[in-house]
Amino acid sequence: MSYTLSVLEQLKENNARQTEFIQAATEILTSLKDYVDARPQYEAAGLLERFVEPERQIVFRVPWIDDAGKVRVNRGYRVQFNSAIGPYKGGLRFHPSVNLSIIKFLALEQILKNSLTGQAIGGGKGGADFNPMGKSDREVMAFCQSFVSELFRHISHMTDVPAGDIGVGAREVGYMFGQYKRLANSFEGVFTGKGINYGGSLARTEATGYGLVYLVEEMMRQHDQSLAGKTVIVSGAGNVGSHAVEKAQQLGANVIAVGEYTGTILDNQGIDLAVLREITARRGDFADYVNARPHAEFLPGTKVWTVPCEIALPCATQNELDEDDAKTLVANGCTTVGEGANMPATLEATEVFRHNGVLFAPGKAANAGGVATSALEMSQNSSRMAWSFDKVDDKLKNIMTGIYHNISTAADEAGCPGNYVVGANIAGFKKVADAMMAQGIV
Ligand code: GLU
Repeated sequence: MSYTLSVLEQLKENNARQTEFIQAATEILTSLKDYVDARPQYEAAGLLERFVEPERQIVFRVPWIDDAGKVRVNRGYRVQFNSAIGPYKGGLRFHPSVNLSIIKFLALEQILKNSLTGQAIGGGKGGADFNPMGKSDREVMAFCQSFVSELFRHISHMTDVPAGDIGVGAREVGYMFGQYKRLANSFEGVFTGKGINYGGSLARTEATGYGLVYLVEEMMRQHDQSLAGKTVIVSGAGNVGSHAVEKAQQLGANVIAVGEYTGTILDNQGIDLAVLREITARRGDFADYVNARPHAEFLPGTKVWTVPCEIALPCATQNELDEDDAKTLVANGCTTVGEGANMPATLEATEVFRHNGVLFAPGKAANAGGVATSALEMSQNSSRMAWSFDKVDDKLKNIMTGIYHNISTAADEAGCPGNYVVGANIAGFKKVADAMMAQGIV
């Protein structure tokens, strides 16, 4: 049996119930098969066995007291997966679905994503099964302080630099940074996504959504197309989705629908972002959109993928777009998909896109703008500088364009031009693998 596939089989056996981790590993190792099997030095060094095993996994108790005076306990995680090319870097997710499988899949993706940015950042991810929705600011602060009271001993600006993800935004990062500074007695760039007046970077908030659209635009440009005049649909109205809508509109696209778990807003005149943001800021109902835009429709319980479009941008969460959704999109004329979330398309959906010649930009490349800008925040912190919005945005644009060309070249060299899943996995892996080889058996 091929070396790569035997490592995958062993991984499935060792992590039998970790479905998301197995899913991500299957996509990655299947993509890497020919590349790795052609290089026997990797097998001799046990490289893949080491690559799929996290360097360190921390699971911890997070006790806190709610507003009613009741003691609550959540489970916290930090998976420090790979530090071959830089300190561990990756977000924290606070969501009731969080478990070790989800954090491991995200951390594994993060290794390759961070490598693709071209910056010196390793891969990690963390979070907790805590739901910030419906909690008071005081409860969120109590949770964040307790979370960091354990995490602080495992992180530093040179060791591991967490950031936001689903459920973790500026408010949470602020509370966690404050508690870290207090416990470690050190003002350092240990978190990214900080507020601007205490070390945050301009354009970090916009970066994931903007970066997604920059990469999609470059991919389309290389196929003699552009976003201008195209019909676009987006899932997720959080930080990633809303900034993807904004940048797509700036480039002349007609964004006609935005979906989330309660349903879909359909606005053929183009989504009014100010109205949408007003709703999300107060955590209101998507259905309220039609109050301000009476010509628009809210389709309760309907997935956004049913709306005919040319470009689809899934920006919500993992496995939100399955095989049937992919078939519907293709049947309705969708020709381009860019993943703003991590692993939003299932393995089967990705296959449907590939078979039908859809331009498909996988998340580890397409949503790398967020973490890339986090690395720019780290650079600013280290040099005690604060760059202008335009300077950061220009760098982001260059990074995203560079990632597209890097994954496109890797796909060509692998003999599957246009297969950016394979291209992204090989291009991301190569840098990490070479660093691991150079550093010996560690
Ligand atoms: N959570 C984001 C991601 O999935 C950003 C991570 C970071 O900025 O470190 O890449």
